[in-house]
Amino acid sequence: MRFISTRGQTPPLGFSDAVATGLAPDGGLYLPERLPDIAAKLDGWAKLGYAELCFEFLKLFATDIPSETLRKIVNKSYTRFDHPEIAPLKKLDERTWVLELFHGPTLAFKDFALQLLGNLYEHQCAVRSESLTVLGATSGDTGAAAIHGLLDRARAKIFILYPDGRVSPLQERQMACTGADNVFALAVDGTFDDAQAVLKTIFEDQDFRARHRLSAVNSINLARVLAQCVYYIYAWLRLPPAAREKLEFVVPTGNFGNVLAGYLVQKMGVPITGFRVATNQNDILYRLFTTGDYSVADVHPSHAPSMDIQVASNFERFLYFMENRDPSRVRAVMAEFKQTGRYKFENFNRDSFTASRTTDAEIASIIRDVHSKYGYIVDPHTACGFKDLSPDRTSVVLSTAHPAKFPEVIKQATGTDSTHRALEALKSKPLVKHRIPATVDAVRKFIEAQS
Ligand SMILES: *Cc1c(COP(=O)(O)O)cnc(C)c1O
Repeated sequence: MRFISTRGQTPPLGFSDAVATGLAPDGGLYLPERLPDIAAKLDGWAKLGYAELCFEFLKLFATDIPSETLRKIVNKSYTRFDHPEIAPLKKLDERTWVLELFHGPTLAFKDFALQLLGNLYEHQCAVRSESLTVLGATSGDTGAAAIHGLLDRARAKIFILYPDGRVSPLQERQMACTGADNVFALAVDGTFDDAQAVLKTIFEDQDFRARHRLSAVNSINLARVLAQCVYYIYAWLRLPPAAREKLEFVVPTGNFGNVLAGYLVQKMGVPITGFRVATNQNDILYRLFTTGDYSVADVHPSHAPSMDIQVASNFERFLYFMENRDPSRVRAVMAEFKQTGRYKFENFNRDSFTASRTTDAEIASIIRDVHSKYGYIVDPHTACGFKDLSPDRTSVVLSTAHPAKFPEVIKQATGTDSTHRALEALKSKPLVKHRIPATVDAVRKFIEAQS
């Protein structure tokens, strides 16, 4: 299987190269050259455990990794989850289910992709006797999950940029209290989008990129999207057949990475009726899916910080399909958007997507309501998924983080203390962070000084 860029101006790559490259040299994002049809495989996959299912799925794409090696990589990636089902599906009532994606080492759904990515990187470094510098920007959970995917790996260094003061104290501790000397937590003076912009520019510098063997770990990496496809299939296989008939996955969304994985699974033939893009008050995607207007606005920090994003980097992959896989159209839209901060789609085709937006006040009241109705506590990101549940569909709400990551909001909304022993253990560890301006120069110098 080969992987092409959404902008069509880079030669296709095999799986391992596309994963190592991250952002394509033409500025685009990698996608499979063609999407396999998996509908006929679903029966055979019904009884597989999570890691086995992941292996069977990834085998269709990672055709340049020997099968037994891939199996080992995948198995290892799901050993640090603290629930035997890895992604348990819980029923709240006849029409409402929660897919719990927070049982990994950093208690957020990003572990699904980043534990795997860490093992893929390690494998590749070993095969090629190379080292690697991983660089990422995070609004909280990506950085923590990436760091925990690469902790203490001899051949990899990891630099994570995050907006200083805008990630939760526990998220910061997950990044800055690891004690690992291959990990650098860089607290940027600016927003997440500022950090992301710095990172994009650094990746465009082909010379610097080659010299440091830079790889991206933000949500544009191909391996992340493919790893995230698996839990949609897993959930579908576990739903009773009647519940599958009108099925909507509800996905708390920031960078559009998680929901895009579901969309690909639908395109591969899994019968999913639709998706809901659930945003917080930073609602660029809500506005896009309701009006066709894709335009940036200022970021307003919210109770759901991992969704405090106005430029959804994975949107370009959806755009590619929306524009009938025409890379020249993708280039035109992205160029105009980059230049003006806006693109207005005429006759926007929202496909099977619906959208909602949730304010901070609503987040708190939803947490309270879900708790009193079901005795179940959701984190502030997941809470956005519970806004406007469809009256005539089965909703599977993806629960993207453990509530204990956001104890203040939970306490305020429900009066309950939400704790997790992995987080308690962090509180006594020394915190090592590096404050840095949001400039390309400062970040480049910092990386250089460490190599
Ligand atoms: C990253 C994150 C999201 C948003 O996911 P995207 O793939 O960026 O849409 C939602 N909730 C939590 C807890 C996250 O960490």
